[in-house]
Amino acid sequence: MENLFADRVHPETASRLAGLFPVMDYDDAIKFTAGAPAENLFPSDEMKQAYLAAMAAEGDHTFQYHTVEGPYELRERLAKRARERMKITDAKPENVMLTAGGQQGIDLVAKLLLNKGDAMVVEAPTYVGALASFDMYEPTYYEVNLEADGMAIDQLETLLRAHPDIKFLYTVADFHNPGGVTLSLAKRQRLVELANQYDFMILEDTPYRDLRYVGESLPTIKSFDTEGRVIFLSSFSKVLMPALRLGWLVADEKVLKQLYKLKEGADLEVPNLTAAAVNNFLANNSLDDHIAKLNQEYLIRQQAMLKAIATYMPEGVTATKPEGGFFTWVTVPESINTTDLLYNEATPNQHIAYVPSKNFYAYKDHTNGMRLNFTGLTPAQIDDGMKRLGTLLADRLTK
Ligand code: PMP
Repeated sequence: MENLFADRVHPETASRLAGLFPVMDYDDAIKFTAGAPAENLFPSDEMKQAYLAAMAAEGDHTFQYHTVEGPYELRERLAKRARERMKITDAKPENVMLTAGGQQGIDLVAKLLLNKGDAMVVEAPTYVGALASFDMYEPTYYEVNLEADGMAIDQLETLLRAHPDIKFLYTVADFHNPGGVTLSLAKRQRLVELANQYDFMILEDTPYRDLRYVGESLPTIKSFDTEGRVIFLSSFSKVLMPALRLGWLVADEKVLKQLYKLKEGADLEVPNLTAAAVNNFLANNSLDDHIAKLNQEYLIRQQAMLKAIATYMPEGVTATKPEGGFFTWVTVPESINTTDLLYNEATPNQHIAYVPSKNFYAYKDHTNGMRLNFTGLTPAQIDDGMKRLGTLLADRLTK
């Protein structure tokens, strides 16, 4: 019956997210693959209490349908956070929308903006889950390279001049997934100027923004927005727990009105029990104290990664220096195909795994990079795994 499926699913093509993490059952396996937060740092007891309190407050009504918007009080808290932490000075609860994870925010925004064939810009590399969503709307992708200070803004401008039909740009501005880099202040300002000049919308996806281990936070792209062109997206997945499936975005009310229409069509409403629990959690605990605890632990792992890169990576191999987030991006000479290296050598011989670069490019045409996660491993595992990776690469490069 596949002839009955819509064109957009391309049944002959595997999901972009399938098989990203190779299965590896060795006792000494070291996996640099996952984008998952450290489980031992989850505030599990506090969250259990928050769920119990949510159920106690509403009795049987707890389990009833509620609203598409979710609790006003939670949106009020998030608007305050947007004003204070994200410098989105005019954010009101009416500008805040709760979504089923950041992922749903990406999907709804894509659905709002993209007709089949519409022109959009993604970073090269970019977040694979966003590509998985965008693919379903069948856009025409234009890619902008990542530099040490974020997307190549001159390249973007050249693209915009050549393709005035570009209407949408997706960016991970803080601690890029997978690139590890952060968009500079000057580029943030320039990006908004370009959006105004060339008439396009920006989705600023920032699930890692609060996880900064060194240096000072930069104002969000949204904070420079003067025309309602920027949609700011965040998530509780990395700073609390992914299983909450709760994200939030800040946008112009005109944009939100349409996004709610799309959300109703997708899943009717916010998981209101979860939203009430998260609201209780935020009322009774300091999210910032919790984030500070995460950052203390992740800093140790980030330092271990930077040290291991300096110690073990052979000449010709470069890596980004993330100041926060979960990932570093390693570039190897073009003679090495990182997908082949993973399946033929890294996994079977060295018992290490990473995510090869081709997954993170719209056209899957870059084969000499890899994404390494450092937050899910101990410093000893990072050192050991990077030593194995360095040995493997050095061996390959001298062959
Ligand atoms: N955006 C980026 C850049 C991500 O890395 C992730 C999770 N890996 C998401 C969005 C979506 O996460 P969630 O739906 O759990 O909020």
